Amino acid sequence: MEEYDVIIIGAGLAGLHCARLLGRSGFRILLVDRKHSLDQSIHTTGIFVRRTLEDFAIPEECLGPGISDVTLYSPSRRSMKLKSEHQEFRIGRMGLLYDQYLTQCLHARVEWSPETSYLNHSVIPQGLIVRLDGRATTKSVRTRYLIGADGAKSRVAQDLQLDANREWIVGVEDVLTGVPLDGPPGLHCFMDPVRAPGYLAWVAHDGEETHIGVGGYSSMFTPVKALESFHDSIGNLFALKQAKRIERRGGRIPVGGVLRRIANNRGLLIGDAAGAVSPLTAGGLDPCLRLSTLAASVVAAYLETGNEDAFKSYSGELFRARFASRLWMRRLVANIRNPLLLELGCAALRLPLLSAFAWHVFFGRGSFPDVPMQEHRRLLADAN
Ligand SMILES: Cc1cc2nc3c(=O)[nH]c(=O)nc-3n(C[C@H](O)[C@H](O)[C@H](O)COP(=O)(O)OP(=O)(O)OC[C@H]3O[C@@H](n4cnc5c(N)ncnc54)[C@H](O)[C@@H]3O)c2cc1C
Repeated sequence: MEEYDVIIIGAGLAGLHCARLLGRSGFRILLVDRKHSLDQSIHTTGIFVRRTLEDFAIPEECLGPGISDVTLYSPSRRSMKLKSEHQEFRIGRMGLLYDQYLTQCLHARVEWSPETSYLNHSVIPQGLIVRLDGRATTKSVRTRYLIGADGAKSRVAQDLQLDANREWIVGVEDVLTGVPLDGPPGLHCFMDPVRAPGYLAWVAHDGEETHIGVGGYSSMFTPVKALESFHDSIGNLFALKQAKRIERRGGRIPVGGVLRRIANNRGLLIGDAAGAVSPLTAGGLDPCLRLSTLAASVVAAYLETGNEDAFKSYSGELFRARFASRLWMRRLVANIRNPLLLELGCAALRLPLLSAFAWHVFFGRGSFPDVPMQEHRRLLADAN
């Protein structure tokens, strides 16, 4: 029977990042994804924030031009502009990035198993037997440890009897080319309680790609219909007539905050599977890289020493305190469905105190989980 130190289920950003860190540390890693190819069925807009770009060396060719300008629109489409002196965001070319990270994994001798689904696992002395459903056959593989990077609705979390996401919003977007850029690259956020109840509609335009999307609570809207209606409603703001749609993306975004129980002596969770998404902004790329880095450190320590104390630093309880205010604000936003109230809220954002708050939400340097990256410098230096 094939034998590994770690099997990682899911080759999204979390699984790929963790696999390349552990692979470069010399462990025998099997990376599994049910997808045939990683540039298929991408479900993220791919906006990276400045802090991520500073801490993680994302390859330059996988990033679009920098964005410093944000425009916030009220339900009646009154706009408010925010500008930073820095390039705050860059839209990732995610298919290319996943492929490059996969190449790095392969160089680090990570074994790659595409078109393979995780089925279940059983516990044996000194490890686990994991059952995988491949292209032609179902096989059983032995591992010392299991990592669930299998997204918002994680089967691995359930089987490991760890916590599972219970609150999410749904996002859907079109990726377009051929939209002329009128002004600097920008992120446009629309408060639209009908087309994006509980979250936002957005246009992210960096001059090369344009992402037009809506997000909200699935019980309150029909995402694809809302996206089409949103498209129709912004024709006066963006010249979309000559645009060509190259992709439609979508998926669930967990917004209940990082889960409490995310590790035990059989396995742990990273990325969306761990609920590692900012509940307020619904940004998950920065948290997923930070938490995966911590996970790689903790798992390496466990595999080297066999000491389960390694997992004490990998508990959602330690991170949730930072989430309290974001969770509270998420609940507030979710419950304001009256367009008039939202309109008033947007008008209030022009007041100095609240405009500082809006600036902080978009350009603030807060990051979650605030894992001190200097402790992981050696691992990251190897990977970067
Ligand atoms: C529409 C949308 C837009 C977003 N935009 C942004 C943004 O601009 N910026 C930002 O910071 N965050 C954004 N997010 C959130 C962010 O994309 C996610 O938090 C992040 O991509 C999570 O990465 P992940 O690796 O944990 O999960 P995923 O990318 O979901 O990867 C999970 C992988 O597991 C595989 N898998 C699942 N089950 C199995 C199984 N049983 N067997 C084998 N493989 C399996 C899947 O095929 C998938 O490849 C967005 C989310 C959505 C839905």
